[in-house]
Amino acid sequence: MDWKDALPNIVTQPSSRLRFGEPLARHTYFGIGGEATAYIEISTVSELAALARFHKQWDVPIAVIGRGSNLLVSDTGFKGIGVRLVGELAKLEVDGNVVSVGAGLSLPRLSKAMSRRGLSGVEFALGIPGSVGGALIMNAGAWGSSFGDVVTNVAVMNDAGEVIELTHAEANFEYRHSGLNTYFCVTGATLRLEPGDVETITERMQTFYKQKVETQPFAEENAGCMFKNPPGDSAGRLIDISGLKGCRIGGAEVSTVHGNFILNIDNATATDVLNLVAYIQQQVQEKTGISLQTEVKRLGFD
Ligand SMILES: Cc1cc2nc3c(=O)[nH]c(=O)nc-3n(C[C@H](O)[C@H](O)[C@H](O)COP(=O)(O)OP(=O)(O)OC[C@H]3O[C@@H](n4cnc5c(N)ncnc54)[C@H](O)[C@@H]3O)c2cc1C
Repeated sequence: MDWKDALPNIVTQPSSRLRFGEPLARHTYFGIGGEATAYIEISTVSELAALARFHKQWDVPIAVIGRGSNLLVSDTGFKGIGVRLVGELAKLEVDGNVVSVGAGLSLPRLSKAMSRRGLSGVEFALGIPGSVGGALIMNAGAWGSSFGDVVTNVAVMNDAGEVIELTHAEANFEYRHSGLNTYFCVTGATLRLEPGDVETITERMQTFYKQKVETQPFAEENAGCMFKNPPGDSAGRLIDISGLKGCRIGGAEVSTVHGNFILNIDNATATDVLNLVAYIQQQVQEKTGISLQTEVKRLGFD
């Protein structure tokens, strides 16, 4: 029996969905990428646990895709199962200033819901179009704040389908990085936010958002910052002084608004993007002596 024949047994809830040959370009902000062999929107912890065991039993590659806002998928796609967390895996529960969030919840939704309740700490997240899971994996952040700062615990699932509670320290949050990618999946987190005034928090959230829209490209498809900022410097500044803004390979172009964004302006392929990444790295190294490291994750490349 092939794993593809056994997979439908995992998806038991009407709110969960399974599709074969799903174009991943539909599920990434870059709008780039070939097909995943299978794609599941999974809505319960018990189905996710069954999928973890399935992964182990059949040795089939599985990739959790949050909102695909920090992801470059190969032109040849992903020979495995792409998973998106929905339903009870995207829950939001508030008890005073302690907030329990599912990994599938969107960050902008979390940010808006918290401002309405007068809870401060995630105002920076309105302009980050990822999921809570992606934000935990990446320790996403902006304006001097990072998601890990407000996290007290993280729930992860192992290959046996068991949910494990990690402390903040065990999550190993660093700049745009965490130690969470060693688990099968991140399922959620507990946050501790600061009670405050609804109007002040909402204004702060909107000010951050406005500044972001004014300084970063939002109209064209992209995956956020392509490179990590080197210590004490900004990748965007280095790309700018290297004269690379507007530089284009195939359908991929360095934004003229912010040098650290690569845009899909004309049916770019993943190969176009990677060729442009390599060219930027080589030029910045030559002109400034600094080696840029990519922030965007890759899926489906050997
Ligand atoms: C316009 C734009 C602006 C952006 N601005 C910012 C910004 O200001 N600051 C910032 O930090 N980032 C920014 N980003 C990048 C991106 O939004 C963040 O990195 C975000 O946290 C990624 O979340 P995601 O759900 O989209 O993750 P994805 O891109 O779907 O995945 C990223 C990685 O996390 C893994 N992953 C996702 N969810 C899970 C899970 N539940 N369990 C295990 N692994 C998982 C994926 O497998 C992948 O390796 C921006 C992106 C865009 C497009």
